[in-house]
Amino acid sequence: MKIVLATSNLDKVKEIKEYLKGYEIYALSEIVKPFEIVEDGSTFQQNALIKSRAVFAKLKEQELEDEFISLSDDSGISVDALGGEPGIYSARYFDLDENGKVCGKNANDANNRAKLISKLKVLNLKSSPAHYTACIAISSKFGDFTAHGFMYGKAIDEERGTNGFGYDALFIPDGFTKTLGELDNETKLKISHRSKGLELANFVLKSLKKNFS
Ligand code: IMP
Repeated sequence: MKIVLATSNLDKVKEIKEYLKGYEIYALSEIVKPFEIVEDGSTFQQNALIKSRAVFAKLKEQELEDEFISLSDDSGISVDALGGEPGIYSARYFDLDENGKVCGKNANDANNRAKLISKLKVLNLKSSPAHYTACIAISSKFGDFTAHGFMYGKAIDEERGTNGFGYDALFIPDGFTKTLGELDNETKLKISHRSKGLELANFVLKSLKKNFS
């Protein structure tokens, strides 16, 4: 059984490959020609399934379903003081207007973080409780499966550290005094939302593997 990752986010690919050592894992671009996936779900789970199903459909077109499964990750950070923002819009936060519509394609990790910081500052907050969510979806000839993982902590109003990606420089996990940007990758791998989702998804992967000859 081979796994294609239904994501082009290289930071996610790195973390997923590190966690799922022991599986034969391929980046999307190694197996499938580039194509656009519209993530128009309203939950992490819906968006994760949209991605894993879209890639599995491509695998089927290439008659690879007896060899491959697809695995996606939809994730983001939810900040309590911002009513759960940016949530499923974490990757597109900079482009999200006041009416909750995505306008343009200018968002990147740096301007997303800057927007989060400015929103906390408007509220005069140095920090707010926050959590990360990851939904891992698997699509295969045996069906679709999902698993969630969460990491709780707080979002702060300044960047600290350069490790990780996305909002990591702003997030202090519960039980720590440093941000994920300051903590090393090994620590993140032990406690992250993604790792916890993958830990559960691994039960599905093990059982699917038995069914692939
Ligand atoms: P997705 O690719 O639509 O799932 O969006 C994921 C976005 O959520 C990323 O671009 C980051 O902004 C944020 N995110 C998800 N997981 C992490 C993480 O582990 N660290 C930092 N940011 C993350």
